[in-house]
Amino acid sequence: MRIAVTGTPGVGKTTVARRLADERGVSYVDITRRVREGASKGYDEERQAPVADVDALRDDLPEDAVFDGHLSHRLEPGFTVVLRCEPDVLRSRLEERGWGDEKIDENAEAEALDVTTAEALDTEAPVFEFDTTEPTVEETVERVARAVEERDERTGVVDWSAYVEGRV
Ligand code: ADP
Ligand code: MG
Repeated sequence: MRIAVTGTPGVGKTTVARRLADERGVSYVDITRRVREGASKGYDEERQAPVADVDALRDDLPEDAVFDGHLSHRLEPGFTVVLRCEPDVLRSRLEERGWGDEKIDENAEAEALDVTTAEALDTEAPVFEFDTTEPTVEETVERVARAVEERDERTGVVDWSAYVEGRV
C-alpha cells in the first residue's frame, strides 16, 4: 500500500514518515525533494518555491511506500495521514528552522484553517488526522502505524478556532 504523510511544514511529516517506512520495511519517498530535483513546472517567485508537477510525480512511485510531503495526498495513495500541530507551537518549530515571519504567518494560517485536511478529504483515500502538538514522536508513530493497519478514518479531531479568533 501507498501511504501519504501530509500536512503543513513543521507538523512532523519527515520524522514520522521515515520511521513508519522503516517499521513497515517499505520505501520512503521524499516527495518535496523530488519536486526540488525536477518534478516541477517552473518556479513561483512569490512563494520562492518550484511549482510541483503532480503528473510527473505520479510516475515512478513504488507500490509499497510511505510518501513524505505536503503534496503526497494528491498522489493517489491508499491511505492518507494528515499530521496537525497547534499553530503557535508550529510557529515555534518553524522559527527554529530560521524561517522568515511572512512564511511562518502563511503556514500557521494554513494550519489554523485545516487547509491540508480539506484537500485530503477531497481525494479517494481514507484520511486519518493526528495532532502532534503534545504526544512524543514514539507515541505518534505508534498511533499512526495502528491507524494504517486498522484503516481508521478519523478527521475533525483538531480545532484551532481559538487561534483564528485570537488573530481577527
Ligand atoms: P515536517 O517534515 O512536517 O516539516 P519534521 O518532521 O521535519 O516536520 O519536523 C517536525 C519537528 O517536530 C521535529 O523537530 C520533531 O522532533 C518535532 N516533533 C515534536 N513532537 C512531534 C511528534 N509528536 N511527531 C512528529 N514530530 C514531532
Ligand atoms: Mg519534511
